Amino acid sequence: RICLGIETSCDETAAAVVVSDPAAQPGQGRPLGTIRAHLVLSQIDEHQGFGGVVPEIAARAHIDHLDRLVAATLDEAKLGLGDLDAIAVTSGPGLIGGVMVGLMTAKGLALGAGVPLLGINHLEAHALTARLTHGVAFPFLLLLVSGGHCLIAEVTGLGQYRRLGATIDDAVGEAFDKTARLLGLGYPGGPAVEAAARDGDPARFAFPRPMIGRPDCDFSFSGLKTAVRQEAERIRVLSRQDVADLAASFQAAVSDSVADRVGRAAEAFVASHGRGHALVVAGGVAANTALRTRLGDVATRRGLHLVAPPVRLCTDNGAMIAWAGLEHLAAGGDLSADDGLALIPRARWPLDPHAEQIVAGGR
Ligand code: ATP
Ligand code: MG
Ligand code: FE
Repeated sequence: RICLGIETSCDETAAAVVVSDPAAQPGQGRPLGTIRAHLVLSQIDEHQGFGGVVPEIAARAHIDHLDRLVAATLDEAKLGLGDLDAIAVTSGPGLIGGVMVGLMTAKGLALGAGVPLLGINHLEAHALTARLTHGVAFPFLLLLVSGGHCLIAEVTGLGQYRRLGATIDDAVGEAFDKTARLLGLGYPGGPAVEAAARDGDPARFAFPRPMIGRPDCDFSFSGLKTAVRQEAERIRVLSRQDVADLAASFQAAVSDSVADRVGRAAEAFVASHGRGHALVVAGGVAANTALRTRLGDVATRRGLHLVAPPVRLCTDNGAMIAWAGLEHLAAGGDLSADDGLALIPRARWPLDPHAEQIVAGGR
């Protein structure tokens, strides 16, 4: 089946067409579908001067570009609207203005094409990408590390997410972005910090390794961010080498902390599901090579194997949305498929339905 995916929840305007492969079986290490077209328009220039994403500017940029981007995507796939079996769109969580633009556009397209509209949870789409690219079977252990989220979950089926841990303050991507701004590396921060760290000494600064050794699987990055700031203020005028060393030392601290937390979660996961399953890393920070390498070691040591989607599918894109749509379509659709035009945008939408209560309970 063929699905068009639309993503506008942050600062990427993205669309893609994905075709599911009915013969492909999960668990064989092979893709479950093919990406027929994949376009991402990044708004880096629009936001650069502000050191971060400005929601209002993002929403307007989506309005300016989305219809032409969708047309170009269908062109590239050599398909018309009439060839689609469904349209999938991010309906949350994210910046509400952007989500609204994507959702309204998708509703119009779905109505015009007469196909079901599927409202997709952006986090679920990140989580399921490894099934599209590597045919990962359930259950798997998920590490979702992105600009707005940092969590570990046990995934036992479509829609079956049990949260094992999450950040108690900043998301990892947010920590990368703030550190980048502090070091004058600009926006987006993750790739800039990674590039700077390549020439740096990760052992020059002994930054804290937050949460290491704690019995839970939670994360914390705000203390680490503060430690980097204090060190930078102490040096005052940063040389290129100082910036590189700070970036490398920060990245090493993040990797150590994440590796420890994931190791603990993997232990619990293997205790209930046994060895041989996948550790899936998803979200924009999964593009980080240092982190991927560390996670590969953690997985192997615990009897799991690391699966990381290609970098272009770790950061926001339309293919992950289209694929999540195909998964829901195969599972018989969901409420949103029955009445897609009634879908509403959601600024907040936890992957784990109980998470909201956990937060309310004083986490
Ligand atoms: P969410 O998915 O939580 O709604 P988002 O969609 O904004 O947030 P993504 O697009 O998935 O987040 O990821 C963007 C984040 O990934 C940014 O914080 C960016 O700095 C970070 N990132 C991207 N590439 C790298 C990298 N190579 N190293 C570290 N971080 C990176
Ligand atoms: Mg982004
Ligand atoms: Fe994202």
